[in-house]
Amino acid sequence: MPSPTTSAPDRGRAADGDPPGSCDLVVVGAGIVGLAVAREALTRRPGLRVVVLEREDAVAAHQTGHNSGVAHSGLYYRPGSLKARLAVQGVESLLAFCAEHGVAHERCGKVVVATRSEEVPRLDELERRGRANGVPGLQRLDPAGIRRHEPHVRGVDGLWSPGTGIVDFAGASRALAADVRARGGALHLGREVLGAARSGDGVHVRHRPRGATGAPDVLRARRAIVCAGAWADALAPRGAAPADGDVRVVPFRGAYRVLRPEAASLVRGLVYPVPDPDLPFLGVHLTRGTDGEVHAGPTALLVGARDAYRLTRVRRRDLGATVRWPGTWRMARTWWRTAGGEVHRTVSRRAMAAELARMVPDLRAADLLPGPAGVRAQALRRDGGLVDDFVLDGDDRTLHVRNAPSPAATASLALAAEIVDRAEASFGLEPTQRWGATGGRAALERRGGGAAAPGLSRARAAPGRARWRTGP
Ligand SMILES: Cc1cc2nc3c(=O)[nH]c(=O)nc-3n(C[C@H](O)[C@H](O)[C@H](O)COP(=O)(O)OP(=O)(O)OC[C@H]3O[C@@H](n4cnc5c(N)ncnc54)[C@H](O)[C@@H]3O)c2cc1C
Repeated sequence: MPSPTTSAPDRGRAADGDPPGSCDLVVVGAGIVGLAVAREALTRRPGLRVVVLEREDAVAAHQTGHNSGVAHSGLYYRPGSLKARLAVQGVESLLAFCAEHGVAHERCGKVVVATRSEEVPRLDELERRGRANGVPGLQRLDPAGIRRHEPHVRGVDGLWSPGTGIVDFAGASRALAADVRARGGALHLGREVLGAARSGDGVHVRHRPRGATGAPDVLRARRAIVCAGAWADALAPRGAAPADGDVRVVPFRGAYRVLRPEAASLVRGLVYPVPDPDLPFLGVHLTRGTDGEVHAGPTALLVGARDAYRLTRVRRRDLGATVRWPGTWRMARTWWRTAGGEVHRTVSRRAMAAELARMVPDLRAADLLPGPAGVRAQALRRDGGLVDDFVLDGDDRTLHVRNAPSPAATASLALAAEIVDRAEASFGLEPTQRWGATGGRAALERRGGGAAAPGLSRARAAPGRARWRTGP
């Protein structure tokens, strides 16, 4: 399945052999967040034994490789939120990383277009948020100003965000993976994590090759950071969760259409409608990718599998988890009318074209060709509320990234720094003794250590949760 951000996710299997029996830090998930976390930990602590376990045979196999490819400038997010801070910081570090590592990217800017006067107050609010968040270079546009940036776009009012860009996120993930390996980390693809239990001073992580049925292997890790995207809740412990922690991930499929080559010149860069503040991820936009193709979309449809790249894919376990969660029904009661519009835009290219033609009047339904799809991991509270901000939660040995929706790809490097800060603060990431079958005192001494690291003694003192495991 080609993705909007790349035509060929990394298929190369790691040459790291079988996973080791022990490590200092295990990172679960090789999406852009997990890879950025592994790199950040290795950058801060050279010599740390970091192992990344990823179920798929490729990095960026899920959300990271199936998104709009936009490096957001930080315009949309509630001032003071993690999203706002980390997007504004993250876009700069991401684009710098791409430049340094030869990853396709461009700072092309974005136009947000109000097509009706009723939308202008919401555009005002967007501008206010952007300025409060410190987004650089924002400019209000009159209709002529909109046409100067995007000659085929019409609107009554507009906002220009020159800091917004486009990135090949799968390419960025491959570059992060290469950097993790270059810094001595190990990346094991095709390894599904089944769960973990506290043991001794660390966690014992059960994993096995994807699709295998035998007894799992055990990785004895001193500390763990779980970045499992749409499966975040499946691996997280239940109960005693903090505010916004007791959530379930519901999958929303986002379908794109591609503008046929003759119509691609209707769009220079990124053209967005004014978002609904209650549902900021809705609203189809036009985005030119780093490969020059223009994508229209995405729609947002609640689906029956966390990997529903085909609309017809249903997994009993995913569907059961969605249906059993009270928040799903509460959300459905609130948003059923909106959901109807999304179904319509998904199945009817005329409906999607009509929506887009409000911004680009020359666009016709015949200009829209079938395109790829992504599946958003949306955390949903028990009361039916959508969790908007990033959610990080953990105990004295494990940190779980519970919710990392858009713009987590943009913010990935800054988010990773935040995650590693929190990990350092709550459990420490000092390399420590190689305990287990061959570990113990001798290994500790080989590494030049002696006394237990401060993080370790903190870990002994703190209670923490007993185990985390798969199963929504
Ligand atoms: C349609 C769409 C459009 C988007 N547009 C943008 C955009 O333009 N800009 C932007 O910044 N963001 C965008 N996003 C959001 C962005 O893609 C995500 O926030 C980001 O990719 C999350 O990265 P991640 O590493 O947390 O998750 P993922 O990329 O989903 O990675 C999680 C990884 O964990 C692995 N995993 C899960 N369970 C296990 C297990 N048990 N064992 C081993 N491995 C496991 C999975 O296989 C997966 O590879 C979009 C998302 C979607 C779906």
